[in-house]
Amino acid sequence: MSQPRPQLPGITSADLEKYLADWGEPRYRAAQIMNWRNRGITSPADMLNIPARLRERLYEEVECEPLSLERRQVSTDGTRKYLFTLQSSGKAMETVFIPETGRGTVCVSSQLGCVLDCPFCYTGTQGFTGNLSAGEIVAQILAVKRDLLSDPPAQDICRTVTHIVYMGMGEPLANEPGVHGSLGIIHDALNISHRRITVSTSGLVPQIGRLGITFPVNLAISLHAATDELRDVLVPINRKYPLQQLRQCLNSYPLGKQRHITLEYVMLADVNDRPEDLEALARFVSPERERINLISFNPYPGNPYTGSSKEHMNRFAKDLIKKGIRATVRRSRGQDIMAACGQLKADIAGI
Ligand code: SAH
Ligand code: SF4
Repeated sequence: MSQPRPQLPGITSADLEKYLADWGEPRYRAAQIMNWRNRGITSPADMLNIPARLRERLYEEVECEPLSLERRQVSTDGTRKYLFTLQSSGKAMETVFIPETGRGTVCVSSQLGCVLDCPFCYTGTQGFTGNLSAGEIVAQILAVKRDLLSDPPAQDICRTVTHIVYMGMGEPLANEPGVHGSLGIIHDALNISHRRITVSTSGLVPQIGRLGITFPVNLAISLHAATDELRDVLVPINRKYPLQQLRQCLNSYPLGKQRHITLEYVMLADVNDRPEDLEALARFVSPERERINLISFNPYPGNPYTGSSKEHMNRFAKDLIKKGIRATVRRSRGQDIMAACGQLKADIAGI
């Protein structure tokens, strides 16, 4: 079987230099190609300072664009959702861009679907069909950069990518090769510091430890319940890594100055928003190192839950704050195009 071609979005500078040396090209060509790539230009035809013979060689030997854009939707709040198919398999996945004043966040997918099956998550309902490679993860960011160049948002809104969150489809820490590989490139080549990258995980304890050692990025934990009894149901991976193990692992996660671990808590009416749930949450959290982000439940067709009301969420947050715990309520973005947390499900039927 022939080797798969390397993917341009996932290549490190050092590897590209090696390829070019093998092809008898001067070293500075690698820097030129990287310069285009890092700005989002991955098609050799658009790399204006590269000679024609090298462009051809790149097309032949490298998979320059592993994703093809099938659809782009723009929400009334400016959020953009992209549906891509993979060149390798034709399978589909989604990416979201959230523009704000002074901050532009790409929410990347790390897997096609998810095995973990949290019962309130749309992605979980579609099963799991594969991991994304480092190149396919970075390619999502490059595609957003390209889109921002060709169709920039309004003047007062951020027009570049400043932050990355691994909160799209999939469980990032169940795909360490793809996620670690992409983190290296995002940090070293796209120049986005660890402080501007957040990995959200449902709580894979050994993998959290390895992440902290290699890439001390911001960590967000999908907590959603603070008793094992309830978390076993809402976040089934809890049966493998129960709260006590999660607690120990969070206590040793490396934190920079003034950084916090975020505990995500989706508010489900009469399921995890009762007074006893608040008490359990207050007992679990470590207020010095952690803060709680209350998330409104984003409904999807056929879901079994009702979200807590806005008023109830605000009260819940206030009660936590009274106990000396940092708590915020996350504003939902892009709901009208199903781009909000947990609403991603790649469906190319009917495009
Ligand atoms: N698998 C990872 C990251 C992707 S999900 C994780 O679970 O952390 C990103 C966030 O959206 C998680 O906190 C997840 O629990 C939350 N989420 C999933 N479904 C949701 C829904 N229907 N409404 C609101 N948040 C949801
Ligand atoms: Fe997977 Fe995260 Fe959805 Fe759970 S919430 S099913 S871990 S994507």
